[in-house]
Amino acid sequence: MQKVYLDNAATTPLHPSVIEEMVQVMQNNYGNPSSTHVYGREAKALIELSRKKIATLLNVSPAEIFFTSCGTESNNTIIRSCINDLGVTRIISSNLEHKCVQESIRDLENRHNVEVIRLNTLTNGDIDITQLIELIQDQSQKTLVSLMHANNEIGNLLDVKKIAKICQANQTLFHTDTVQTIGHYEMDLTELGVDFASCSAHKIHGPKGSGFLYAKKGTHLKPMILGGGQERGLRSGTENVYGVVGLAKSLEIALTELVNHSTHIKKIKQYAIDQLTQAIPGIGFNGLSGDVDNSLYTILSVRLPFHDALIGFELELAGIAISQGSACSSGAAKVSAVIASLYTDAEIDQITPLRVSFSYLNTVEEIDILVETLKKIAEKHEVVTA
Ligand code: PLP
Repeated sequence: MQKVYLDNAATTPLHPSVIEEMVQVMQNNYGNPSSTHVYGREAKALIELSRKKIATLLNVSPAEIFFTSCGTESNNTIIRSCINDLGVTRIISSNLEHKCVQESIRDLENRHNVEVIRLNTLTNGDIDITQLIELIQDQSQKTLVSLMHANNEIGNLLDVKKIAKICQANQTLFHTDTVQTIGHYEMDLTELGVDFASCSAHKIHGPKGSGFLYAKKGTHLKPMILGGGQERGLRSGTENVYGVVGLAKSLEIALTELVNHSTHIKKIKQYAIDQLTQAIPGIGFNGLSGDVDNSLYTILSVRLPFHDALIGFELELAGIAISQGSACSSGAAKVSAVIASLYTDAEIDQITPLRVSFSYLNTVEEIDILVETLKKIAEKHEVVTA
């Protein structure tokens, strides 16, 4: 049976050139970057070269890039330090953020005197920006806006440049979770005007356990992890040298191949939309994900017109790896909070959401397997007659 991997928003396979470069480092550069001898200096040089490479690709200064272990750590560090060290007493965010953002905010809300406002979600899955514009006028409290660039379940995109301008005009800090978008779009972080952003290598064919946070010059974040003072004091702990090298390589490949990869993925996504729409009457797509040009092109959030609590197992039996929500909630029968925010309880009882997420490695043949399998499942639910 052919295996089909369509869960690339959860993680991606490593690119062969990333593996090659990491293996070189594993074999030859085992020095501790903090050591002053040649082994240490060589390892340190690799880290600084990687930082420079990433900074150049995103048009920022190397001093604005801090290596971390993942997107979760980057987002936690930023949000926590804004409250603990930068004097923020109000956070404006949403119920659609990744758990690592929502849980960080909830924890701070419970333990500190922080006012948290979660913006309304519109029926198309966008955040209510009019509400943000109204709220942000109140400058009596130092405020952090934390809104993700692209939603990891339904693929809705935020106009980050517009929000950054609004925040700047109102002396408000702006953090955007860019874990699903860095490497999938040309991104000039300086021009975008955000204060903070985050990245995770394993979403762009790089290694797990490696990411970075971007903090605009002058923002002065303070550390969550203390110790040897690595990463200019913001993130102690001996550096993951091969992880950092792999991260820089994966971002370099993603941006060099951006046009080829995105063109291919958009074609595959449109093909999936067309074939699924033809095969299963009543099928729909959650949020804006059914509009290839106006959503994150790597994600298609499918809404099957019947309820099937066992769909995860049925797809697994057919060799297809797909998530029912984000990775954290895959396997769970309960729909995710993001999907729940788009529908009434009665509507949710009538549908099954599936997140199909693509990479440059996916093929039309794989989409055909997915469509055939879902069509057979729909036949059982009598949506389609055999
Ligand atoms: N933010 C978003 C939008 C994500 O999709 C993810 C992972 O799914 C994360 C943050 C967390 O990243 P990591 O897996 O590197 O901790």
